Amino acid sequence: MPNVIRSPHDAALAELCGDLADRAERLDASGDWPAEQLKLLADYGVYQWFAGPEWGGQAWDQESILRGYLALSGACLTTTFIQTQRDGACRRIESSANDELKQRLLPGLTSGELFATVGISHLTTSRRHVAKPVLQARRVDGGFRLDGFSPWVTGGDHADYVVLGATLMEGDAATSLQTTGEQLLAAVSSKLPGVSAPPPEKLVGLSASHTGQFKLENVFVADEWLIAGPVENVMSAGTGAGTGGLGTSTLALGLAKAAIDFISAEASKRPELLPPRDGLLREYEELEAALFAAVRQEPTCTNDELRGGANSLVLRAAQASLAAAKGAGFVVGHPAGRWCREALFFLVWSCPQPVVSAHLCELAGILG
Ligand SMILES: Cc1cc2nc3c(=O)[nH]c(=O)nc-3n(C[C@H](O)[C@H](O)[C@H](O)COP(=O)(O)OP(=O)(O)OC[C@H]3O[C@@H](n4cnc5c(N)ncnc54)[C@H](O)[C@@H]3O)c2cc1C
Repeated sequence: MPNVIRSPHDAALAELCGDLADRAERLDASGDWPAEQLKLLADYGVYQWFAGPEWGGQAWDQESILRGYLALSGACLTTTFIQTQRDGACRRIESSANDELKQRLLPGLTSGELFATVGISHLTTSRRHVAKPVLQARRVDGGFRLDGFSPWVTGGDHADYVVLGATLMEGDAATSLQTTGEQLLAAVSSKLPGVSAPPPEKLVGLSASHTGQFKLENVFVADEWLIAGPVENVMSAGTGAGTGGLGTSTLALGLAKAAIDFISAEASKRPELLPPRDGLLREYEELEAALFAAVRQEPTCTNDELRGGANSLVLRAAQASLAAAKGAGFVVGHPAGRWCREALFFLVWSCPQPVVSAHLCELAGILG
């Protein structure tokens, strides 16, 4: 059994990253769910970083968690991304006022016995332009009936529970329902009648995250499974798995650093690679400093600026590693090609609209 990681400076974290990096190419090629990698996270105590001691956790501070994520994402972005979605679900549950629910789920989630994920983006960044909410809830005796789907749920086909957001509707189900303007969050068991997770999407990268739709057909969810709401804007109550947070930028920076480290290793034999490596590394260090300044509540830029900078760097650093690797980098199985595909993910994952708009202007070569 490996040593439990107690701090981001622990040698055991480097050992875990080595294990994850060794498996990353095979994971990308197979697209299989990373059960072995997630078991490693449990064995090394990674799930304990996020929960309080009353649930068996170590309650790491945010800076330590982000340092951990920075290391993990450079080793295996897919496994680390799945962990962020798991973390988002756990945080929403832990910040809930529903004590019984916490007692029921948090010990198993902290030990790794249970797996939970989130389906909330349809309340923030997905399907915001459609008139009818994609996942609707109706008040019934003792709970709610949920109908519709969550468009993107990572690991939905392996989840014991999915933290789902739904929009409250009122009126006659047979004729027409109207939104009340309120939303709720609930922990929905994947075993409830009417719940299904169709086969996950084949993605440009991170296919092994098994991301796809999560469907609910008139599913009864009892009050005892409620995490928050119904209230207006349920996502701004509580913490965890919001958009534009620092976690997404951290994962982009972790991947960028892996690509820069590759260029550094090549540069030891090819000095012409040193100037581009130095430029990328300088930018990385500035963004890393801005990230931790933000964590310490002494921001040097906005979270959106940080995300935009991290996105821009990861895209360029990944492509620079491919250019440095030359033709070999274009052969499937070389990490540089995988990093290029994975870097594209940051253009779409939980990306706030101003950051998307800034990227589009940058790509079009016009000022935003
Ligand atoms: C690999 C992956 C994993 C993810 N995992 C999770 C997860 O675990 N949990 C979670 O909650 N979310 C998750 N997400 C969702 C993610 O955070 C974003 O919400 C999502 O990528 C937004 O993309 P969308 O296609 O749903 O956006 P949408 O805005 O819904 O766009 C969909 C389509 O609608 C059209 N469209 C968009 N805007 C307009 C408009 N204004 N007018 C007319 N047409 C329009 C476009 O044709 C577009 O292609 C994941 C996403 C990905 C890609």
